Amino acid sequence: MAIEKTLILIKPDGIKRRLTGLAIDRLENAGFELVGAKAVSVTEELARKHYDALKDKPFFENLIKYIRGEFHGISKNRLIALVYRGENAIKGVRAVVGATNPEDAAPGTIRGSFGRISSKGQFENVVHASGDAQDAVREVALWFKPEEIIE
Ligand code: UDP
Ligand code: MG
Repeated sequence: MAIEKTLILIKPDGIKRRLTGLAIDRLENAGFELVGAKAVSVTEELARKHYDALKDKPFFENLIKYIRGEFHGISKNRLIALVYRGENAIKGVRAVVGATNPEDAAPGTIRGSFGRISSKGQFENVVHASGDAQDAVREVALWFKPEEIIE
């Protein structure tokens, strides 16, 4: 068992639909420790860096618009970024979050309960969670300064 940190983002659909508290509640109940939290104005540059591994996917340009709140009318491109810490936190948080495609996400997961596929085909799945250890380290460092994480 390893103590890990992982990045969660409350995506613009989660912000608009007032699901921030619900997501935090589920993650807290699952036993993870919240060690970093802030509102972020997502620049074009930050969005592209965050999703760099997906830059050749056909859905990439819409994904950048989505994460910057352009489909949800979120002012100042605001979202909420969180860092959770705990034993096997990366896998454990992903289990609470559910599968990428909301139609495949298990009932009771955040995405299974609240995700949708928009009429444009965008997976609006409420939250981002780091996919593996390498991504988690990269993403936590991309979104947070070391002094913003208290552990
Ligand atoms: N996405 C999408 N259509 C797809 C695949 C992904 O709209 O066919 C979006 C979705 O919002 C997803 C994000 O792109 O959360 C990042 O994709 P990834 O494969 O990394 O999924 P995740 O790690 O978020 O589960
Ligand atoms: Mg991913």
